[in-house]
Amino acid sequence: MKAFQTLLYYKYCRINDAEKFAVLHLNFCKSLRLKGRILVSEEGINGTVSGPVIQCKKYMDQLKNDPIFHGIEFKIDEVDEVSFDKMHVRYKSEIVNLGCPDVDPTNSDVPHLSASEVLEMKDKEDVVMLDVRNKVEYELGKFKDALTLDIDTFREFPEHLNEIEEYKDKKIIAYCTGGIRCEKATLVMKNMGFKNVYQIDGGIFKYGREAGGRDFEGKMYVFDKRLAVDVNDVNPKVISKCRICDSTTSKMVNCANPECNEHFVLCEDCGWKMKGCCSDSCLDAPNVRPYDGSGYYSKGE
Ligand SMILES: [Zn+2]
Ligand SMILES: [Zn+2]
Repeated sequence: MKAFQTLLYYKYCRINDAEKFAVLHLNFCKSLRLKGRILVSEEGINGTVSGPVIQCKKYMDQLKNDPIFHGIEFKIDEVDEVSFDKMHVRYKSEIVNLGCPDVDPTNSDVPHLSASEVLEMKDKEDVVMLDVRNKVEYELGKFKDALTLDIDTFREFPEHLNEIEEYKDKKIIAYCTGGIRCEKATLVMKNMGFKNVYQIDGGIFKYGREAGGRDFEGKMYVFDKRLAVDVNDVNPKVISKCRICDSTTSKMVNCANPECNEHFVLCEDCGWKMKGCCSDSCLDAPNVRPYDGSGYYSKGE
């Protein structure tokens, strides 16, 4: 067992005075010496925090015992070091930014599929998988043969659904990292006439744990300094290509130019050659940060 954990969790639920809750929750997280990023809104909580195992347990116990968060599930990663440098709890109007106020996941009736149900369904003739994540995420890794949409943010999801219009009569298994985006995405799809919509319970993360990640190709993009994590230990494959030399690699970095800061795939060799930059113009930029091979830079807030 490793010394630290990184937790990933969400819960759509009603939080009254969420702005005040956010302030109190930040104090609570700081008292536990956790690091991470949490969004709080009237529609719920969405977070990822990291810290020593015992502090993570205290955090989970507190939330599990709070009736507001009844039934909250934590996805737990054992890690060698804390995955964040800072602790933020931010109040937002939505915990997942979609911009469709009529979508209310607290009352969703979309079936959540367990890993074994996914395995049993996904290769059938009348079933397709849909990756609801952004381009930068699915380019690093996605389910074999899954549909993707040309989106850079989740807000663009509804307007890009026409790209998969022809699958309207199929059974569609939607998935994202941990399930939170699917809670909204599947409702949008139903509103737009997709009848048979499912979501993977707990997203790629939980599927990876329970099905060994079978048929998930590449790595899973994560929103902490690890950037990419392995999912599949059954039949892994690398699908991403280095931005510079086109060689196959799963290394994901932040561009060393802070004005760019783009996340992109960069191989080990090109990393050193490009000093962690995505392009020549970034390489020439005035404030390029020193590259240490990791491709991660603290946000410096
Ligand atoms: Zn390269
Ligand atoms: Zn750049």
